[in-house]
Amino acid sequence: MRLVAPILAYHSVHPDRRDVINVSPQRFAQQMQWLADHGFRGISLQHYRQALAAGHPSAARMVAITFDDGYLDNYTQAWPILQRHQFTATIFVVPSRVGTNIVHDEAWLTQFPSVPREAYAYMDWQQILSLNDAGIEIGSHTVTHPLLDEIPQSDQEHEIHESKRLLESRLGHPVVSFCYPAGHFTNDCLRFVREAGYHQAVVTPYQSGQIRGGDFTLKRSGLYRDDTLPRFLFKISPLFDLFRAMRHAA
Ligand SMILES: [Zn+2]
Repeated sequence: MRLVAPILAYHSVHPDRRDVINVSPQRFAQQMQWLADHGFRGISLQHYRQALAAGHPSAARMVAITFDDGYLDNYTQAWPILQRHQFTATIFVVPSRVGTNIVHDEAWLTQFPSVPREAYAYMDWQQILSLNDAGIEIGSHTVTHPLLDEIPQSDQEHEIHESKRLLESRLGHPVVSFCYPAGHFTNDCLRFVREAGYHQAVVTPYQSGQIRGGDFTLKRSGLYRDDTLPRFLFKISPLFDLFRAMRHAA
């Protein structure tokens, strides 16, 4: 089987969260197990791009695994599952949210009254550093997670440059991957990302069908709450990319 969109996008992997961007640890484990059982290797976006560029012979069996936002459950739940298979991944961190449990829309939370507030917590710097040391790639997801196409150009540039600088000052090495919050970007953003020195950037799965792709708009397949194993298999198959293109053309 050949994968057409082998960059997977996750957010949280929490046992209690009920919102759509959460994949249960059980489902996540099942998905990673399937990849391992079928000879695929989960790696970071950075290494995936390097392997592809180098024409690495095993690149076809590599899957880039990415997580947006930097939730604490990436450390407590997803990481042990990844380790089981010696997989790595990329986590896109928002520096201003590190160590907090900021939820931007409090009204939205009321839909899930039984879910404890801690379920929405983000990793702290120590946890991020220990994942970084263990081979997880830390990427940037801006400083404050704005929709980049809704803020002034100078703020776009600041969010893209400053987040890289903040992360690098903590990690002590270059940060080369970027992720646009909610997939919103402008042509200026693409230029700022390139000028800042990132090597690649990913878009949100929702918009992937409309985007031609390229190093700074890499498409991903997003995995969500209701993705059973058959749906996961569909989303990593060549059919999914075709399906997305048709849906957006309609
Ligand atoms: Zn995000």
